[in-house]
Amino acid sequence: MPTTRFEVTATSWVTPSLRRLQLQTDDLSGFRESVFTDRYVKLVFPKAGVVYPDQIDVRAMRGTMPPEDLPVVRTYTALHPDVDAGTLDIDFVVHGDEGIAGLWAANATIGDRLLANGPGGAYSPDPTADWHLLVGDESALPAVTAALEALPSDAEARVIVLVDSAAHEPTLVGPAGATITFLHRDGGSVDGLLANAVRELEWMDGRVHAFVHGEAEEVMRGVRPYLRTERGLGRDQLSISGYWRRGRTEDGFRQWKAEFARVDSDGNDDAGANADSVRIHARGR
Ligand SMILES: Cc1cc2nc3c(=O)[nH]c(=O)nc-3n(C[C@H](O)[C@H](O)[C@H](O)COP(=O)(O)OP(=O)(O)OC[C@H]3O[C@@H](n4cnc5c(N)ncnc54)[C@H](O)[C@@H]3O)c2cc1C
Repeated sequence: MPTTRFEVTATSWVTPSLRRLQLQTDDLSGFRESVFTDRYVKLVFPKAGVVYPDQIDVRAMRGTMPPEDLPVVRTYTALHPDVDAGTLDIDFVVHGDEGIAGLWAANATIGDRLLANGPGGAYSPDPTADWHLLVGDESALPAVTAALEALPSDAEARVIVLVDSAAHEPTLVGPAGATITFLHRDGGSVDGLLANAVRELEWMDGRVHAFVHGEAEEVMRGVRPYLRTERGLGRDQLSISGYWRRGRTEDGFRQWKAEFARVDSDGNDDAGANADSVRIHARGR
């Protein structure tokens, strides 16, 4: 999909720290074939005073532009794309005064402009699975929301989501067989919270298909060993990767991912989501 120019057409707060922006464009046809519930776009934030080509390919621009002129790129899940209306939603975690995208979204108003490349994606719930496991923090909530909305009415699902407090729990709509558990940071340490909750889950019979995304250490060093080694989930049963890394910008997180993949022969199932360019992943099943 070429670089798309969006305009903000509506804003709302899903929770006190999750801001939904509805975006509209003339041509959303690049989403027509997009079948993944975790479909994402690469938001492109230009540097002030720099003139960019119409089509912004950051990887290609690396060789031709000084590094300080390159735009900032941030990855976000594209919710509810409506090709005919040219609209989609993005739910931004507003996480304080640091960073580019979260801050921009906190202050965005109707009429503001946004550039995006995409979509990419890798996961949608396997209709042949006996049950579904969806695990993450707020950054994964949009993808969890889309997965729940895509499940058939007779699907079984276990959902575990880490949020700040009870006041930060969004309303999630899913099939009757979906059990949703919210974990709260409550200002305390989060180390192991997600992993412990997954461990304590009453494991269901049959073949599971799992989607696990959020803070990278929590997910990759916390949850993944249990699912891969102790529960024996194959790659075709598990979409797992970090969506962000505490203490690192997305650019620094890309380096973390590359290092992690180098030292861990199991690699990272979804490393492409943090590259500058958008790739479409095969579903691997
Ligand atoms: C495929 C994919 C889909 C994603 N979808 C979404 C989505 O729909 N909504 C969403 O909000 N995020 C999503 N993310 C995560 C998002 O890309 C990162 O959180 C990103 O770092 C935010 O950019 P920023 O400019 O706000 O902060 P950055 O400049 O990247 O980081 C600045 C500081 O903020 C911290 N930080 C970054 N994100 C968070 C967070 N969520 N909570 C607390 N601290 C944080 C960093 O550790 C760093 O210290 C997704 C990531 C991927 C890979």
